Amino acid sequence: MDCSRDIVIIGGGITGLSAAFYAWKQAQENGLSINITVVEKAPKLGGKIETMYRDGCVIEKGPDSFLARKLPMIELARDVGLESELVATNPNAKKTYILKRGKLHRMPPGLVLGIPTEMGPFAKTGLISIFGKLRALTDLIRKPRMSNEDESLGGFLDRRLGKEVTEYVAEPLLAGIYAGDMRKLSLQATFPQFGEVERKHGSIIRGMIASRTAGQSVPGLPDVAKKTTFLTFRRGLGSLVERMEQVLRDNVQFKTGVEALRIAKCDDGQRYEVQLSDGAVLQASRIIVTTPSNFAAPLLRDHIDVSALEAIEHVSVANVITAFKRSDIKAKLDGTGFVISRREGRAITACTWTSIKWLHTCPEDTLVIRCYIGRAGDEERVEWPDEALKRTVIKELKELMDIDAEPKFMEITRLRQSMPQYPVGHVQEITRLREALKRDLPGVFVAGQPYEGVGMPDCIRGGRAAGEAAAAL
Ligand SMILES: Cc1cc2nc3c(=O)[nH]c(=O)nc-3n(C[C@H](O)[C@H](O)[C@H](O)COP(=O)(O)OP(=O)(O)OC[C@H]3O[C@@H](n4cnc5c(N)ncnc54)[C@H](O)[C@@H]3O)c2cc1C
Repeated sequence: MDCSRDIVIIGGGITGLSAAFYAWKQAQENGLSINITVVEKAPKLGGKIETMYRDGCVIEKGPDSFLARKLPMIELARDVGLESELVATNPNAKKTYILKRGKLHRMPPGLVLGIPTEMGPFAKTGLISIFGKLRALTDLIRKPRMSNEDESLGGFLDRRLGKEVTEYVAEPLLAGIYAGDMRKLSLQATFPQFGEVERKHGSIIRGMIASRTAGQSVPGLPDVAKKTTFLTFRRGLGSLVERMEQVLRDNVQFKTGVEALRIAKCDDGQRYEVQLSDGAVLQASRIIVTTPSNFAAPLLRDHIDVSALEAIEHVSVANVITAFKRSDIKAKLDGTGFVISRREGRAITACTWTSIKWLHTCPEDTLVIRCYIGRAGDEERVEWPDEALKRTVIKELKELMDIDAEPKFMEITRLRQSMPQYPVGHVQEITRLREALKRDLPGVFVAGQPYEGVGMPDCIRGGRAAGEAAAAL
């Protein structure tokens, strides 16, 4: 059997689907015929992306949106004919709140990724003490660190802005993306731009002010992306997965409900065998592994050093959707929600006022709120029984938002071991892993969140690069 143009993609999340789509597209453009198989252990495709529809609401059980200034997702939407479905956040809901000592404070305008770029609002905020503000402003005169050796995200922010801004502003905002411990997360794997900005401008505040202006002109952005930070699809992110499945159905073989157990080299040294949990063995000359690191490591361990993957721990989180009758809510909701520092000791780590932030998601008489539970060092609540979790969320919402109503419905999603924690030195370790892969397993590619970062646009970029490289070989 000539398998020279067969590609097996392990994992059918957004990375695996992007790899399949762009491998197929490239083959088509070059007049090549390639057999592509996607192996996904869950019964359906999409990985962490899952949209449900209930009582006229579009509800995201996993990720809910993506950064509008990152092009790969927009290009993919365009390539699969879904660009017209892109929607921006409510332009009238710009405020975000941070809880401090039981009170919601408006996040000062001009905070970019937790870094103050407008001095007036920062000076006035009640979130930070006078001492904390003065300490943060010493960033403007503090000597920059010119070394590009990695450090922790928390270490960087402590060093530049001081502990108070780190813990009360940056931590709930930034570590929320990773549900992580800032003092363990790698700066270079999470926010590499911070280090670059410090080296270039000598100050993170000055640098973020400069990049704020530059960031407004990303070429290739459609109009819908120009005035918003986040985008999603009118029928939810799941509609992208559905569309990709539809586009690929006749050209790609999807094996769902089947786990890839082992990758073995064939005797000819050119091809590989992938053993599957249903007893089948697939042969291919190209393999793209797109699973999270804890599932990629066992597949690659027999062939290369996988310590870079084993070093990534994962945090479990849950999201609790609560839908109220809108007329039951007296509180004035004029923003996108709030975040909570770990020092507040609450179960909820962040709360999105979904129907305010995304006007398309609910009928007018319904208010959907999404609360996040669980972060590094505080994961046990994720496993609480449904009733206990629901009671806790309602109790905290009543205290924090002055809600005095019973919800129409609640929906809990547990995403166990879902948030990768990139350790300091991660980027360098992954570079070494990729070199080993190239040397010892030619034709095997890796893509997805362990390598590219957690954002879906980055996963798509990685999946696309791997798919195109595999199709080109
Ligand atoms: C709660 C939460 C909220 C998030 N919010 C956002 C957000 O708003 N915006 C954003 O950009 N990102 C967000 N992210 C991150 C983003 O969802 C992920 O980084 C991205 O979806 C990862 O896609 P992936 O395809 O690389 O991996 P996954 O989606 O994890 O897909 C990997 C697939 O591989 C399968 N698999 C594993 N092992 C095997 C095996 N041996 N054989 C076959 N199949 C296997 C799994 O079943 C899975 O379907 C969020 C993540 C979480 C957990």
